[in-house]
Amino acid sequence: MQLVATRNKGAEDILPSQIHKWHTVERVAAETAEVYGFKEIRIPTFEKTELFVRSVGETTDVVQKEMFTVTGKESSFTLRPEGTAGVIRAVIQNGLLNEPMPQKVCYTLSCFRHENVQKGRLWEFHQFGAELIGSPSPSAAAEMISFGRELLDRLGLKDIELHLNSIGCRTCRENYYKALREYITPFADKLCDTCKSRLEKNPMRILDCKSPVCRDLVKDAPLMKDFLCEDCRSHFETLKHLLDELGITYTVDPKIVRGLDYYTKTVFEFISNGIGAQGTVLAGGRYDGLIEEMCGVSVPALGFATGLERIIMAMDGQGFEFPEPPGFDIYIGSMGEDASAKAAALVKRLRTEGFRAECDLMDRGVKAQMKYANKQKSMFSMIIGGDELSGGTARLKNMRTGEEIPVPLNEDFVEIFTDIHLAEMFSEE
Ligand code: ATP
Ligand code: MG
Repeated sequence: MQLVATRNKGAEDILPSQIHKWHTVERVAAETAEVYGFKEIRIPTFEKTELFVRSVGETTDVVQKEMFTVTGKESSFTLRPEGTAGVIRAVIQNGLLNEPMPQKVCYTLSCFRHENVQKGRLWEFHQFGAELIGSPSPSAAAEMISFGRELLDRLGLKDIELHLNSIGCRTCRENYYKALREYITPFADKLCDTCKSRLEKNPMRILDCKSPVCRDLVKDAPLMKDFLCEDCRSHFETLKHLLDELGITYTVDPKIVRGLDYYTKTVFEFISNGIGAQGTVLAGGRYDGLIEEMCGVSVPALGFATGLERIIMAMDGQGFEFPEPPGFDIYIGSMGEDASAKAAALVKRLRTEGFRAECDLMDRGVKAQMKYANKQKSMFSMIIGGDELSGGTARLKNMRTGEEIPVPLNEDFVEIFTDIHLAEMFSEE
C-alpha cells in the first residue's frame, strides 16, 4: 500500500504544541493595528493571474519564476504570492476609494511562492501586512514605519535594524535607468538569464538579484540616491526628519530596491541580524502608481508586510518566552458507568460557565486518568466512584498544593468550584 501521509515540500504544519506562538504574534499584530487605526480586510486566496502580472510586475522574480498558477475545469488563476495586489483590488472593487481618506487596512494571510525551499523560505508562508491608502505625504510613510517598529518592539524583538531608501518616481527613474544601463551593458553577457531580460525593461531589478555573480557585477553600480528629482529628494529629507522626531533610528541603505515593481519613492526593510540569510522580517514601501495601473484613477498609497514564519523564527532565536497556554481548570475522573455519566454532566455545566473542564473519554482506570490530568497541567482534579455517588460528595484536589476539599455533587457544585478556583487564581499570583 502506498502511504499518503506525507506533506508537500515547501509547506509546513503548525502543530497544537506550537500554535500559541502564532496566537501571540497574531494577537500582538491585531492590538498594534488597532491602536494605529488599521481595520482588517479579508480577501480570496486566489486572483486572476493578470492582477499579479500587472501589479507585482513582469520583471520580478515573483511573476517570472514563483507564481503558483492553477488550472480549474474552465479557468486558470493564481494563488496570491503576496497580499497587496489582492487587497488593493478589493479596495477599488468595493468602492473604498470613495470613503474618507486615508483608508487604513490590514490583513493576515497565507502566500504562495515557488522558490528554492530553505530556512525561512517556503512555498506557502504567512504574512501580516497593512496598507495606508490616499496620502502622498511623507508623514504617511513615517506612520507606516512607526507602526512596523511598534509591532516589532511589542513582539519583544531585539537587534532589528531599519533600512531606508528612496527609489524615486517615474521621472527621476528614467535618468537613473539610463545611467544604470550604460554601466551594466559592457558586461551584460555575464549576467544571469533573468537579469539579461531585466536590463531593457527594469535594470534596477538587477540590483536585487539573489545570484552572487550578478550581485558582484553590480556592487559598484550607480545609485538611485544620486538621481533623485527635487520632489523625491525633499520628500525623503522630510521623512528622515519626521523619523528623527519620532525617535526612530534608521540606516539609509541605497542598495534597497525591493522585490516588487510597484514601489516608488520610500522603501524600507526591518532586518534581523540573528536569523541568517533570510534576515528581512518586515518590508514595505510607497506604491503611488499601483492603483492607477489597476483602475485608471491615480491614488497614492503605501504599505508593509511581515513574514510570520521569520518573525517567529527570530523570536525563538532570541529566546522569547511565549506565554504557554493554560492547562485544564479541572479534570473529573470516574470509576464505573454511572460515575462517568455524572462526571460528564458536571463537566458540561462547568464548561457552560467558561471553565476548561475535562473527563475520561478513554475508558481508562483511575490511576491512568490522574496521570493524564497531571500531564495536562490540570489545576484541580476530582474522582467520582460509587461512594461519592451514593454519599453525594467528592474530594476536590488542588494539584499544586495537594490539599483536598470536600465538595457537594449537587446543584451548588459549580458555584462552590467557582469560589475555590478564584481563590487559587489569586494565591498563584
Ligand atoms: P526576499 O528578499 O527574502 O525574497 P521579498 O522581497 O521577496 O523577500 P516581500 O515580497 O517583501 O519579500 O515579502 C514580505 C516578507 O515576507 C519578507 O520580508 C519575508 O519576511 C516574507 N517572505 C517572503 N518570501 C517568503 C518565503 N518564500 N517564505 C517565507 N517568508 C517569506
Ligand atoms: Mg523573494
